Amino acid sequence: MDSRGKAHAIMIALPYQGHITPFTNLAIKLASKGFIVTFAHTEYVHHMLSQSHHNDSSTPVDFFRDARKSGLDMRYITISDGFPMEFDRLLNMEKFWDSLLRDFPVRVDELVGEIVQSDPSSVHFLIADTFYSWPAKIAKKYNLVNVSFWTQPALVFSIAYHLKLLKENDHFPPKDNGEDSINYIPGVQSISTKDLMSYCVAAIDPTSSEYSTVFGAFEEVKKADFILHNTVHELESETLLSLDQKQPNYSIGPINFYDCTKSTAVADSLFSKSDCTEWLNSKPPGSVLYVSFGSMVQSNKQIIEEIAHGLLLSKVNFIWIVRADIVSYDDTDVLPTEFKNAIKEKGLIIPWCNQTEVLSNPAVGGFVTHCGWNSILESIWSGVPMICYPVTFDQPTNRKLVVDDWKIGINLCDGISVTREEVANKIKNLMSGETSNGLRHEIKKMRKILQDALKIDGSSERDFDKFLKDLKAKILA
Ligand code: UDP
Repeated sequence: MDSRGKAHAIMIALPYQGHITPFTNLAIKLASKGFIVTFAHTEYVHHMLSQSHHNDSSTPVDFFRDARKSGLDMRYITISDGFPMEFDRLLNMEKFWDSLLRDFPVRVDELVGEIVQSDPSSVHFLIADTFYSWPAKIAKKYNLVNVSFWTQPALVFSIAYHLKLLKENDHFPPKDNGEDSINYIPGVQSISTKDLMSYCVAAIDPTSSEYSTVFGAFEEVKKADFILHNTVHELESETLLSLDQKQPNYSIGPINFYDCTKSTAVADSLFSKSDCTEWLNSKPPGSVLYVSFGSMVQSNKQIIEEIAHGLLLSKVNFIWIVRADIVSYDDTDVLPTEFKNAIKEKGLIIPWCNQTEVLSNPAVGGFVTHCGWNSILESIWSGVPMICYPVTFDQPTNRKLVVDDWKIGINLCDGISVTREEVANKIKNLMSGETSNGLRHEIKKMRKILQDALKIDGSSERDFDKFLKDLKAKILA
């Protein structure tokens, strides 16, 4: 970039689907702006990507090879997460995260040292997921600019950033199961305690890895030089402006749609995709309900049964993503037999699909979602209104944005239990009628905001350019 050499990003995502996709897209975007990018996946993620893209994972595959062929300077490396491939990282979440907190940073430190040493003519900087609690220390050791990338809404970031305020107000965790209004978080008008992230609501053991992760990460991020958010300024302006008073924040989303042409396609799906284009193309416009609970969350058999019967009662066409582990790791046959016998041409049950492609198919008219942030952005991008069934983590907070603030979705159930009749009624309301029209009207406006944000003079493009300018100034300082 000047006499000090080219800027070289070292990027390390969290090893989960909802983080890998935005990180990969950010990497492509940076490389297409002339940066060198070295992208590190864990060996386990590499193994999953290899399997899902039908490569033999024993032969090293460079997932950025095609991007490089198209002229981007993207380099790829892997790093051990400390466990053998067969270790079940979701089932043993606590043990896995203990190691990610304790041992992983040592390996990252070594890796960053090697990258910096092997390319002395570049000026390196670090882009790591906000949930990691080691970036500040490693950035300091190697004198790197420290960029934190947050892949969830700014609202969730802001609440976690102000956990101390929640504690001071006896809202961490909330004192009883009742609802209380929180109106002291800067940039957050008001939020009910019931809408807080799961890790704020439940009393978490202060010695657990979940506690250390959240607290560690949100103390660490205060030392970051820059924070990137996969959101759009117009969606969360008050929250973002308030965060700006503390540290430089940039809203650069929805980053997943940056490379719409996919000319630089990089493998980023941990699971093999079933193609449902032909099936979708045989259905009338707006007639198909898409049902998916993302890559990680688990539900219980009784709820799955109610949803199954609700789908039949509603009489809509549907695609349902039923992962093998949707209920548990050892019970993979979770759908009621009478349901499987009854669906015939009405429904498609598959373990994984190309979600953005499905949502953008004209046949799809609604989405039953667990409210993962990527799923929400992808649904808005395609103008598909949602039925919200949040389960854990940030999902209850994301639901508030979709249903209460933006009015582009409805709740799956208004009480505690999920019943098939309510599921069927909600589906009918989502797919047609007055409620449906209102949701579609609102989501059309939101869709335009998202699409405008990525145009040349759109807010996310401007923020991205400002980030690059500030980054260069900092690197050269
Ligand atoms: N996804 C997909 N195919 C599926 C289901 C999900 O490609 O069958 C993708 C989806 O497009 C999204 C990601 O998986 O980008 C899920 O991320 P999200 O933040 O919505 O939820 P998480 O999995 O992190 O809970």
